[in-house]
Amino acid sequence: MTPLLDFNYVCGRCKGLRFDDAALGGFESVSNYDGESELKFDEDERLRKFRLNYKLKDLYPELPALSKSSAGGCQSCDFIRAAILSKDSRRQIDEIMGVGNTFSLDIELLYWWHAFTDRDVEQQGLSLLEITLLFGPSVLPAAFNDLY
Ligand SMILES: [Zn+2]
Repeated sequence: MTPLLDFNYVCGRCKGLRFDDAALGGFESVSNYDGESELKFDEDERLRKFRLNYKLKDLYPELPALSKSSAGGCQSCDFIRAAILSKDSRRQIDEIMGVGNTFSLDIELLYWWHAFTDRDVEQQGLSLLEITLLFGPSVLPAAFNDLY
């Protein structure tokens, strides 16, 4: 097990974020470069993505499910919530879904094994946590429904 995100407490749903390299086919190999043992998934060093056993449906922008577990002490839910509500993410979501709309959101997570940063710097090993947001149908605010 290799922690990319090392949290003291996570909720039951976020236990799916543990990176179980053995279950994913990882094996120990001796490096030709320095003789040290290293974790590998294949002999080449290609990029891989591992979909995690994590699925959550929530409502944007309030994110009540993530907010509830975050308030309950889950550091992982707090991290994911903060990432979705970051200035950059909100700007991108607003461009796609429009400003001020409420809609359902399916959240999935993937780990990247070997990746390049946005500055083309190669990252070895467990490199990134990708938060994938799948936008669902718009949900009318309760106040709007009250008008009809
Ligand atoms: Zn959690």
